[in-house]
Amino acid sequence: MASFTHEPHSGGTIFSLSSAPGRAGVAVFRLSGPKAGEILRKISSRALPRPRYASLAALRTLSGEVIDEGLTLWMPAPASFTGEDCAELQVHGSLAVIEAMAAALLEYGARQSEAGEFTRRAFENGRMELTEAEGLADLIDAETQAQRIQAIRQMQGGLKEIYEDWRERILDALAQIEGEIDFPDEGDIPQGLSHKAHAPLTALARDMNAALETAERGERIRAGLDIAIIGPPNAGKSSFINRLAGRDAVIVTDQAGTTRDIVDINLVIAGLPVRLSDTAGLRESADVIESEGIRRARARAKDADIRLVIHDGAQTAQIDSTLPEGSALLQDGDYLLHNKSDLAAPKTLPLPVQAKQLGVSALTGEGFDAFLSQLEADVTARYSPARVAGLTRVRHRDCVMRAQNAVERAASSLGIAPELAGDDLRAALLALRELAGQTDIEAVFDRIFSRFCVGK
Ligand code: GDP
Repeated sequence: MASFTHEPHSGGTIFSLSSAPGRAGVAVFRLSGPKAGEILRKISSRALPRPRYASLAALRTLSGEVIDEGLTLWMPAPASFTGEDCAELQVHGSLAVIEAMAAALLEYGARQSEAGEFTRRAFENGRMELTEAEGLADLIDAETQAQRIQAIRQMQGGLKEIYEDWRERILDALAQIEGEIDFPDEGDIPQGLSHKAHAPLTALARDMNAALETAERGERIRAGLDIAIIGPPNAGKSSFINRLAGRDAVIVTDQAGTTRDIVDINLVIAGLPVRLSDTAGLRESADVIESEGIRRARARAKDADIRLVIHDGAQTAQIDSTLPEGSALLQDGDYLLHNKSDLAAPKTLPLPVQAKQLGVSALTGEGFDAFLSQLEADVTARYSPARVAGLTRVRHRDCVMRAQNAVERAASSLGIAPELAGDDLRAALLALRELAGQTDIEAVFDRIFSRFCVGK
């Protein structure tokens, strides 16, 4: 009890059931903290096993009763996941064993960890940077292959490599500028150094910009894509979505105005999670609820990543050059689908934007394969994980944007006021440190002296 007053809540030895709760073949408990070794010794009533080698042992309560037999692993600091002494217990995955093990670990003096506490300790002990911890979190949450690919890349330090490189380049420029400001009389320091920093800084700003352009892609992979289906009532939107989802998720009727609100269906297209929303048919309506549905449909359509306008091709075919309702919402890269191709041959309409036009039949399934492979190709081209790691969160974009602005400012004030340029570069470094979740400033001075032999 006394330990509460001395130890911060974040301290101590923690444990958690790291496998999913519920009945399973094996359940995995992890322990981390100063008492992990002592607890492992006591619970297995034997000396610590060889580090990182599995060893079978009977596991007992404090009073000596055997709970289960399981594999034990000992991973001493600092080469463990958290950087602290860690232990792992693999026991049988029944509810009763899990409950008894948790009770015993509490008895031995460990406490139940909070969400993300192991990773947090790993981060605080320098085992990973913030972006790597974020990658790990994304990997655990990954539901699709594109999400997994992006997450593992980030977890393995792909993004870190990029901003480490940026940081080096900023430090180089800063060293040149600081050298000129702080030691103007030193014979060893060539004059006009700050001007030399101009080209590297503009190149850096350009690279940062290129990374910012990947941000949307990265964020989309994490969060998923929104595809909105819009069009006039009775065009076959609900039938279309049902065929796509392969199940009866939406009510299909032949009475106009049935879909009054937005219905979401989750699909995976090209390895990305896709939220497909069937929106209310676009038409003027006296019905208050339907009008609200239409208002939402338009708002959702505007915010979506891709819009599919579906219309009754058989009906529109009779009226020359009239664009179907909803076409005004189309943007480049969207789709205009001429539905009911079983009734009338689809024709291409003149659109003001670069939208793809395809004939489909929600009734017979005609044209669906062509549509889906086209959509998959588009999603792959626009949103599949970049070849190299990129920015995946708003937080990243925010930090990089600030760093990029600061680097640009520095480049333009170099010739006029090198002091200001120095300040801007320090601001850029700060933004990158924030990205990495760390701080360090001495590195700049180290660099000046090592490069220019000033203090000789
Ligand atoms: P929504 O109001 O746009 O959601 O349209 P629905 O999906 O409810 O379809 C309206 C009517 O058109 C229903 O009677 C459907 O059976 C019919 N329908 C939908 N797609 C097709 C199609 O491709 N061909 C034919 N012939 N009828 C269709």
